[in-house]
Amino acid sequence: MNIKCGEFIGEVDEETVYIGDEDELDYDVLVWTGGITGRDCMQDVALDKDERNHRVHAEGNFRTDDEHVFAIGDSALIDQPGDQPAPPTAQAAWQAAEVAGENLARAARGQPLKTWTHKDKGTVVSVGEKAVAHDVMNMPIETFGGMPAKLLKKAIAARWINDVTGVGRAAKAWPDM
Ligand SMILES: Cc1cc2nc3c(=O)[nH]c(=O)nc-3n(C[C@H](O)[C@H](O)[C@H](O)COP(=O)(O)OP(=O)(O)OC[C@H]3O[C@@H](n4cnc5c(N)ncnc54)[C@H](O)[C@@H]3O)c2cc1C
Repeated sequence: MNIKCGEFIGEVDEETVYIGDEDELDYDVLVWTGGITGRDCMQDVALDKDERNHRVHAEGNFRTDDEHVFAIGDSALIDQPGDQPAPPTAQAAWQAAEVAGENLARAARGQPLKTWTHKDKGTVVSVGEKAVAHDVMNMPIETFGGMPAKLLKKAIAARWINDVTGVGRAAKAWPDM
């Protein structure tokens, strides 16, 4: 096995991955997990942002360097305690939205803004029919798979559908998840 770190993929065609200026790798199966990039339309927006991925820098209260602009979710790099910004996950975006919404109202009223800190509730991954859960909040076992992990993954999706559209649609979607 050959693991390369710190290299940037410049181009991929049907047979080859081109790395940097000179390196080429032939492949049979390519799994691309290239990471998060901001939207093209953010490229020319005059806000403090990462020049490569156009994600907008925001404080823990979601305010950018323009006091009238707030940023959350994948399009933002939100300050957190430590070196790393908030992770680009639905879990984080969902949590952030609750506080960001309140902060918009606070900003309009001239009140102090709340600072948000991401709380990692754990990781649940499903691939095909299989699932695994790790470090899930309030669970006594650190890592587990099988039916409990599959049910948990479905429950997370159902909860989201319930929050957005109501319990009827969540129940309807359950057999297809
Ligand atoms: C395959 C996949 C699996 C994932 N699985 C998980 C998971 O299991 N758990 C987890 O926590 N996270 C997961 N994520 C990450 C998660 O989906 C994102 O972090 C989350 O959706 C970010 O929310 P958001 O609101 O910032 O952006 P989005 O959900 O991407 O919403 C952005 C919206 O803006 C719209 N938009 C874009 N450009 C414009 C424009 N110019 N004008 C108007 N509207 C525009 C888009 O159409 C979209 O509706 C996954 C992501 C992918 C791709």
